Amino acid sequence: MKGVSVGTPFFLYHSGCSGRGSMDQRLQETLIFRRFCGILNRPGQFGSIEKAGMHMNSTTVLPQGYHETEHINLQTDKKTALRINITALIVMVALMVLGHFAFCPIVTLYGESGGALASLLRLGVLLAAYFAYIILHELTHAAAMKLSGGTNLRFGFTGLYAYAGSEKDYFNKAAYIVIALAPLAVWGVIFTVLLLLVPTEWFWVVYFLQIGNLTGAAGDIYVTAKIIKMPRDVLVMDTGVEMFFYTK
Ligand SMILES: [Zn+2]
Repeated sequence: MKGVSVGTPFFLYHSGCSGRGSMDQRLQETLIFRRFCGILNRPGQFGSIEKAGMHMNSTTVLPQGYHETEHINLQTDKKTALRINITALIVMVALMVLGHFAFCPIVTLYGESGGALASLLRLGVLLAAYFAYIILHELTHAAAMKLSGGTNLRFGFTGLYAYAGSEKDYFNKAAYIVIALAPLAVWGVIFTVLLLLVPTEWFWVVYFLQIGNLTGAAGDIYVTAKIIKMPRDVLVMDTGVEMFFYTK
């Protein structure tokens, strides 16, 4: 998935990877994910790719009869990119207002608690964690691509945004929805759990990360909303910078 920036790193769209657990735990998570993809991939449900009698989440060969029907490039489609960024900005401000009035005053982030050094530490951790999150968001997309059978993953960073994608894999509808929303879901759960655990003075550090997770996924949500309306046999190629949709 490509990342789009509004001009400030705070709006970098996407990044990701699941938490580290024991080998058994990770194996179990992988199996659960595969089963989940399998359910979504049931023939006729959300579309699937049939290859040698098997229903696949992805293929490297465009099946016969398919042709490109749509194309998204948010670098060239500046109008859509701007619309997505403005929506993300409005959501960010709304979430900040909600956080300040409903959960915890923002002054706890930089205020008196623990003195100036502690405040600086919190701001430093927030900045470092956010940059780590950008990379982790992309790794989560990549992990979901890999689990959906992706074979040619690539990563990049342009200075304005990070991306993960593949230039050779075509994903079916269900698999691609999972790929697009994986970071939002995985990190949404992780940050929500952390929000419940951290002491008050660290609330806004994690809350900002959660806001970054939600607003940073604006591009992913946009793409998901688009693909949901497409035919169920649609195939998707996401190079990390551009997306191509193919139907019969
Ligand atoms: Zn993303």
